[in-house]
Amino acid sequence: MKTKILLTSLLLSGMAFAQTNMPIMSDNPLLQPFSTLYQTPPYDKIKVDHFLPAIKEAMAEGRKEINAIVNNSAKPNFENTIVALERAGDLLSRITPILFHLNGAETTPDIQKTVKSASPLLTEYGNDISLNEKLFARVRAVWEQRDKLKLDVEGAMLLEKTYKSFSRNGANLNDADKEKMRGMNKELSQLSIEFGEHNLAETNEYALEATDEKDLAGLPDFVKESAKSTAKKMNKEGWIFTLQAPSYGPFMQYADNRELRKKLWLAFNKRGFNGDKNDNQAIIQKVVKLRHEKAQLLGYKTWSHYVLEERMAETPEKVMAFENDILNYAKPAALREMKELTDYAKKHGFDENLLQRWDASYYAEKLKKEKYSINDETLKPYFKLENVLDGLFTLTNKLYGLTFKENKSIPVWNPEAKAYEIFDEKGQLLSVWYGDYFPRPGKRAGAWNTGTLSQHFEGTKDIRPHVINVCNFTRPTDTKPSLLTFREVETLFHEFGHALHSMLSHVKYETVSGTSVSWDFVELPSQFMENFCTEPEVLKMFAKHYQTGEVIPNELIEKIKASSNFLSGIGLTRQINLGLTDMKWHGTAPTGESVAEVEAKVAEQTDLYPIVPGTAVSTAFSHIFAGGYSAGYYSYMWSSVLDADAFEAFKEKGIFNKEVSKSFRDNILSRGGTEKPMVLYKRFRGREPKPDAMLKRDGLAL
Ligand SMILES: [Zn+2]
Repeated sequence: MKTKILLTSLLLSGMAFAQTNMPIMSDNPLLQPFSTLYQTPPYDKIKVDHFLPAIKEAMAEGRKEINAIVNNSAKPNFENTIVALERAGDLLSRITPILFHLNGAETTPDIQKTVKSASPLLTEYGNDISLNEKLFARVRAVWEQRDKLKLDVEGAMLLEKTYKSFSRNGANLNDADKEKMRGMNKELSQLSIEFGEHNLAETNEYALEATDEKDLAGLPDFVKESAKSTAKKMNKEGWIFTLQAPSYGPFMQYADNRELRKKLWLAFNKRGFNGDKNDNQAIIQKVVKLRHEKAQLLGYKTWSHYVLEERMAETPEKVMAFENDILNYAKPAALREMKELTDYAKKHGFDENLLQRWDASYYAEKLKKEKYSINDETLKPYFKLENVLDGLFTLTNKLYGLTFKENKSIPVWNPEAKAYEIFDEKGQLLSVWYGDYFPRPGKRAGAWNTGTLSQHFEGTKDIRPHVINVCNFTRPTDTKPSLLTFREVETLFHEFGHALHSMLSHVKYETVSGTSVSWDFVELPSQFMENFCTEPEVLKMFAKHYQTGEVIPNELIEKIKASSNFLSGIGLTRQINLGLTDMKWHGTAPTGESVAEVEAKVAEQTDLYPIVPGTAVSTAFSHIFAGGYSAGYYSYMWSSVLDADAFEAFKEKGIFNKEVSKSFRDNILSRGGTEKPMVLYKRFRGREPKPDAMLKRDGLAL
């Protein structure tokens, strides 16, 4: 869901990928029909210099198409306005995903420069459409007739999405209010940038210096080495630990020196709360107030009502009920786990009554090791990349009847990327799918699913998608193949779950195709696939020792399962703390309460440790104040409930059950965003999602 989101936000929804009637305009390969098999992008012919002229040409085409809609003398109707707008900008939508994909998987300074030059042009293009009053007048005219149009569900959804892409951005406001809203948007984006800058400065400016090797007791060598090299870079003696995740995390887990753990923890949790130039408290108050005013201007009760209208959860009441419901199970489990952890700590030299926040990861790491004696190195020999992929293909064949064939004649962006043809049960092409699995300079970190063509129909022709999974897994060496950690295996299944959502799509319009669904629904297909990784029947299909061929022993499978629930109550309670903090800021009209006051109220419900005055969560909560997750943090836990509940349906009838997998495919995977997610989900499950399966899976059910 990465490139896609960027694109839709740049281009607005309503743009379509397509490839017919492409005029031949020059020898620029991006402007010619792709003559490759399945019209995949000719990566072997595309040069960086082709992008900018092609994008400009395509934008000119798109503007002509928009003008044709606006100047149409016929009365606005669904076809000549909504569908025409859906098709406008086809050429542009064929080119930009290729650029953004390359920028993620195979970037160069030249590609970055091109993206930098193209982005403002694309924003301007998007603005020209969203601010086009004549265009909106036509869209609104169709919207107002919606009850008489007899559209099918998908057409009705396309109309609603198109109308809302204007109205939710203020197209219905009078000129004075429009001006007001532009001012608010500008201020909000400025504040979110400042929040992020403060957070970055607070994270980067701090350094914990150690000069006595005794202070490093407990730390693994790799942590010490990296601290030494950080010190060297700063021309210092000894070792330096920072608030960056790769330094902070291991220090809190392994350092025996409790005073230093406390010092580092305090620095981390005072970010944005130090009363200095990087303090974020005033920004939070301004953001919360502006968001509320913006929502009210658009006719919504609160910011959360505005945000949630377009989500599966729909209302703040539902989100709050959801958080509190899970808390009823998570909190007692978390308290049991805290007791276990404290007892363990006391047996190992801890001589106070209550664990502090800087103690938890430290003792958790030791307890986990003692309980499960399982680590990446034990498991990796069973997870050779090729074997895992074979397992995934076999599983997908059992569930949906798909078959896979690597095809070396399909051009790729790097020799390490592999292209596959994926066929459905009737042997017809379902999708082109690319897997690109190893880290390289020029590839950004992480793992993601993207694509350069979304499934949709052109008339009666079903245009099949081009889907891409990019990851950064352990590389093969001269002596060893690529051996994955268990987390990497889950990631591979996860991204492929997103890919299946794109591949199995069967809809008319690109705007509602594949993964184009709401935020709290998009992780269902991906997280759902992760469930298979702990099923013995599935693991035994592919987890074979790369040297001996020995199938993974039951004892290891048991340990994987048991360790995956380790301290899940504490983990969920933490999630709920963040979710409730988000809703406290965005779920009601601003109360004027301070950061400390708001957090103290949430803490009454969720806290497991003594409060530490002078620290805060909100002032470094970038997800909701510098990112797009405001009134949306609950989505993480929401998705877990969905995926576990959906998987339970499979477990009830056998995990390879054809009837259940067909229903999952027909009602969810193939339907994209053609209907409201709750409607789709209920059609599959026969009821709304329940948290029971997640609670059971995570070991929290009483
Ligand atoms: Zn995902």
